[in-house]
Amino acid sequence: MDFSLSVEEREIRDWVRTFVQRELLPREQEVLRRERAGQPGLTSDELEELQLKARDSGFWGVQTPEEYGGMGLSAVMTALLEAELGRTFVPFRFGGAADNILFYANEEQKQRYLLPTIEGKRKSCFAITEPGAGSDAKAIRTTARKDGGDWVINGEKTFITGGNEADFVMVFAITDPERGANGGVTCFLVDRDMGWRSEYIDTMGEWGPAALVFEDVRVPESQILGELGQGFNLAMQWIGRGRYLLPARAIGSCERLLSMAIEHANTRETFGAPIAERQAIQWMIADSGVEIEALRWLVLHAAWQVDSGMDSRHAQSIAKLYGGVKANEIVDRVLQIHGGMGYTRELPIERWYRELRLLRIYEGTDEIQRRTIARNLLKGHAKVGGALG
Ligand SMILES: Cc1cc2nc3c(=O)[nH]c(=O)nc-3n(C[C@H](O)[C@H](O)[C@H](O)COP(=O)(O)OP(=O)(O)OC[C@H]3O[C@@H](n4cnc5c(N)ncnc54)[C@H](O)[C@@H]3O)c2cc1C
Repeated sequence: MDFSLSVEEREIRDWVRTFVQRELLPREQEVLRRERAGQPGLTSDELEELQLKARDSGFWGVQTPEEYGGMGLSAVMTALLEAELGRTFVPFRFGGAADNILFYANEEQKQRYLLPTIEGKRKSCFAITEPGAGSDAKAIRTTARKDGGDWVINGEKTFITGGNEADFVMVFAITDPERGANGGVTCFLVDRDMGWRSEYIDTMGEWGPAALVFEDVRVPESQILGELGQGFNLAMQWIGRGRYLLPARAIGSCERLLSMAIEHANTRETFGAPIAERQAIQWMIADSGVEIEALRWLVLHAAWQVDSGMDSRHAQSIAKLYGGVKANEIVDRVLQIHGGMGYTRELPIERWYRELRLLRIYEGTDEIQRRTIARNLLKGHAKVGGALG
């Protein structure tokens, strides 16, 4: 068992660490100021400028296959990069990415959707959740009815990330009510100008998802992504594409937060001594340090399983669950260590507090991860002894 990084992995990781320090950290105060004025932290032009800067050094499409101009990095490497990006709340992501299921597009669809998305010229969103169907995704009610050579889509989607900015959606609709999720759900690529509209949803986070409304939206047969009736499998592939990536980003955020807590504990004096000398504070710092280490290895282990071609779903659920729960405990402790200042908007802790809360909800809530983990253990799909048996 070798836990060390190769020279190349270390170089890639260090490049991103430097990029975060040089390009992103200096923008933090301005990002906070703008967000507090109700504006996006980065304009789309600024994001693009940063992405192009990264591209100049080869950082483009980190997980996009090389044949499409990407870096085709491994899951482990991508997790390490996400952890680096998580050290700042500046909303940066590398350019050149496309949703994994868009690679199932046929040649004509690839030209219209996949390639422009990779190039950053088109923006996608993924829409399965509905007001009556979240965790229970099989309960969706949006329908697509065949009418001549076309399909007519009716229904409402909710909480769709990027739904306000996207110019096309991968939307999931029932095409065969009898079969439902077992062969009766289809994924359609639908341009905004084909007739759907979006409505902003205000959340406790800094950006809002959208509700999407489909009223008699007519699309030709050629808009089906993958095969008719096979949409539910695509949806599960999209959601399962990288459950390890969300907690990977949280590693970086928690490391940064813990560093802030350590600095504050060493400098803030009460009753004639730094609070770092109090056991109550030391234990919060110790627990956070231990949990960040545990999270790192859970995430990297899940990513390693992905790279090894193993069935990584159990390991990914464990990493996602642990990351969501522990990141929230850690940010709460860090806020507590900062006392009243932690609660103010002068420091970014409350911002991370709100952002990290989402980790326990989207792409499978804590309860749904526990349900999956318990089912795997109870039915023997996963061993109590883990990968080592
Ligand atoms: C900011 C944000 C962005 C999102 N982005 C997208 C997106 O891009 N595309 C998309 O399609 N969706 C998106 N979602 C939707 C997200 O995936 C769902 O909100 C999530 O799956 C939970 O579904 P729900 O909100 O309907 O809650 P529900 O499913 O109604 O759950 C309510 C509560 O009951 C619990 N619960 C449910 N079933 C069980 C059970 N069997 N056992 C025990 N407890 C249970 C849940 O864990 C939760 O605590 C987003 C959500 C948010 C908040």
